[in-house]
This record gives sequence, structure tokens and C-alpha cells, in this order.
Amino acid sequence: MRLVRVRCRCCKRQHNYNPSDLIQIFGDVDVDSLVSRMKCENGADHGMLDVEAFAPTGREAVGLRIRRLVAIKINRVPVWKEDPA
Ligand SMILES: [Zn+2]
Repeated sequence: MRLVRVRCRCCKRQHNYNPSDLIQIFGDVDVDSLVSRMKCENGADHGMLDVEAFAPTGREAVGLRIRRLVAIKINRVPVWKEDPA
């Protein structure tokens, strides 16, 4: 079992993700390219996150909390244009 650990250096928060959840959002990209795509949930200005794939050992896996994807919300952005006169 491989997981992806994401750490924010700014607010020191850390989350573990299931790769299959991340693939739904970012596509089947490698871990390195996630660094530039993921943003801290506490603030977009928190800079680059530390992203690393890891395989928890049996002892590590006990009590390891995994942040699961619940839903993907699509932002609906209105686009306007003036009617020709
Ligand atoms: Zn942060």
C-alpha cells in the first residue's frame, strides 16, 4: 500500500492521501508534479508543499489517518457578453 504524504511548511499541517483519490483530481501524474499543483487548504499563499510517496510499515499504518476525497465541487464561473447593439 502506497500513500502520499503532504506537509505544509507554513502551518506545519500534514495529511496522508490515497493515491487513487489524488488521481481523480490531478490525473495519473507523478508525485513530483503534485508539488506544483497542490495548495495548502489553510491558505493558497502557504507556498510549495512537501509531497512524498511512502509505504507505511505495519506499525506506522496503525492509527494512520488518511484524508479521503468526499466530493469534487465544480466551480461554476459565469461568462458574460454584451448583446450586439
Ligand atoms: Zn499551510
